[in-house]
Amino acid sequence: MLVVDAGAQRNRRSAAMHGYLTRDGIAPAGFLDLARRELAAYPSVELRNVEAVEADQADDGFSVRLADGTEARSRTLLICTGVVDDIPVIDGIEALYGRSVHHCPYCDGWEHRDEPIAVFGCGEHAAKYALGMTTWTADIVLCTDGPHHYDDDLVAELDRHAIGIRVEKVVRLEGREGRLERIVFDDGEPLARKALFFCTGQRQGSGFAAHFGARFTPHGAVKTGTAERTAIPGLYVAGDASKDAQLVIVAAAEGAEAAIAINTELTRRDLAGEGR
Ligand SMILES: Cc1cc2nc3c(=O)[nH]c(=O)nc-3n(C[C@H](O)[C@H](O)[C@H](O)COP(=O)(O)OP(=O)(O)OC[C@H]3O[C@@H](n4cnc5c(N)ncnc54)[C@H](O)[C@@H]3O)c2cc1C
Repeated sequence: MLVVDAGAQRNRRSAAMHGYLTRDGIAPAGFLDLARRELAAYPSVELRNVEAVEADQADDGFSVRLADGTEARSRTLLICTGVVDDIPVIDGIEALYGRSVHHCPYCDGWEHRDEPIAVFGCGEHAAKYALGMTTWTADIVLCTDGPHHYDDDLVAELDRHAIGIRVEKVVRLEGREGRLERIVFDDGEPLARKALFFCTGQRQGSGFAAHFGARFTPHGAVKTGTAERTAIPGLYVAGDASKDAQLVIVAAAEGAEAAIAINTELTRRDLAGEGR
């Protein structure tokens, strides 16, 4: 088995990974290191730290061209190239992202329970996100970074849950040692907050699934069937790239499901005397 990885896993800027039982709070780089060390014990697994630049169907399988100029051939292909987040462009965000600026409440909401937090984003989705954050805290301000177009019912619902709305443009996030302290707007008083959650979108980490003609959900995730199969024979898509919750433990579970299906398929082909 060949594993090709360009090494830009989505959570690499996070300080601590949550939601993976037995590994709660581990640094993502430490988790990856553990996984790679365990893989190294299996001589049948080859790991190449390189980008895949092209993939196509070939003969009875797939060919993948790598950035180092080599080409790999396989009978099945599992795409798990993740997604890339659209991180809001705000002065000061870089030093805070992954520590007190987050995108996923299920990953980092508990660490900010009962704290004053902000939700950043426009559109109805951001308002729903802010309402969802009431699971973790009652002190929420929605920063829409410009005028919003919420209808009266939605504004009333936000109001009912004591969620404030700031419509001024966010110009800067200020904090120390990775901890957010305040949000500065282009007008009005700065807002003291301990964390900011954003929901500004994401896109596929690679174009391979689209290239093979996979189908997508309205949210841009690949539609997969049982064991992460696609409609293209031998092609599987797992992890954040495919539908369902975007968590490390889910990505691992989807990978395991796909692995069993792939092994079953290859064994069946071998037993039937079909080419290797
Ligand atoms: C800031 C942050 C914090 C998070 N915190 C948590 C958390 O606490 N708990 C949790 O469960 N989840 C967390 N997540 C979500 C978690 O990162 C993802 O669910 C998980 O990484 C998905 O795994 P994946 O393998 O599908 O994708 P990724 O981990 O993103 O891995 C995709 C890999 O594919 C590689 N790749 C892409 N294109 C190519 C190519 N052309 N050639 C070769 N390689 C390629 C990338 O370089 C990358 O290494 C967090 C995400 C972010 C952004």
